[in-house]
Amino acid sequence: MPNELSNNNDISVPIDLQSQVTITTLDKIYNWGRRSSIWPMVFGLACCAIEMICAAASRFDIARFGMEVFRATPRQADLMIVSGTVTKKMVPQIVRLYNQMPEPKYVLSMGACACGGGPFKEGYNVVSGIDKFVPVDVYVPGCPPTPQALLHGLIKLQEKIDHQSIKKVRWYADGDSEAVPIPILGPDLIDPRQHSIFRQQSAKKDVPDLDGSPAEA
Ligand code: SF4
Repeated sequence: MPNELSNNNDISVPIDLQSQVTITTLDKIYNWGRRSSIWPMVFGLACCAIEMICAAASRFDIARFGMEVFRATPRQADLMIVSGTVTKKMVPQIVRLYNQMPEPKYVLSMGACACGGGPFKEGYNVVSGIDKFVPVDVYVPGCPPTPQALLHGLIKLQEKIDHQSIKKVRWYADGDSEAVPIPILGPDLIDPRQHSIFRQQSAKKDVPDLDGSPAEA
């Protein structure tokens, strides 16, 4: 009888049952579980990390979002907050930690340095953004961003998770997900994904080899 039923997502629930029964989609309940229990990795690089630590203090109550469980191992974390200046020396370690995190995993780039090099952009020892090496989901600008700004970024990450679908996310796709190649720290940082470019350059006689030695005559 239509007047005794109500519509919820195109599925009718009898009025008598509406206080006990709710109907939702698998995506919604799955995403709700993940967005409410994101465990960040204990991991900081520079001054921005101090703001991240502040965000974990009681004043900001990060536990409201289920994110207060900072884990000391990448294998139990699903969020990497890159907080601070990313030096070339640190990039191989950051990528290695990222690869050790299980899927589903997310990356939040916190602060001007992690997003694009910040005040050290173009510095000889600093990379111009961590997104050149690992996929970034949320960027939080500022130098440094406040704990409130970080919380805002975390809420944005929750909104992103809300729009994901089990059918489309990469970690449930067929086949193994590929690890990000760990950059090599030589005379400069070498991204193995660009090896074909390096080979071409090395093949030219007027370009020095990768190890800095002069090209063969
Ligand atoms: S963005 Fe500013 S506060 Fe953050 S690590 Fe860089 S210099 Fe420090």
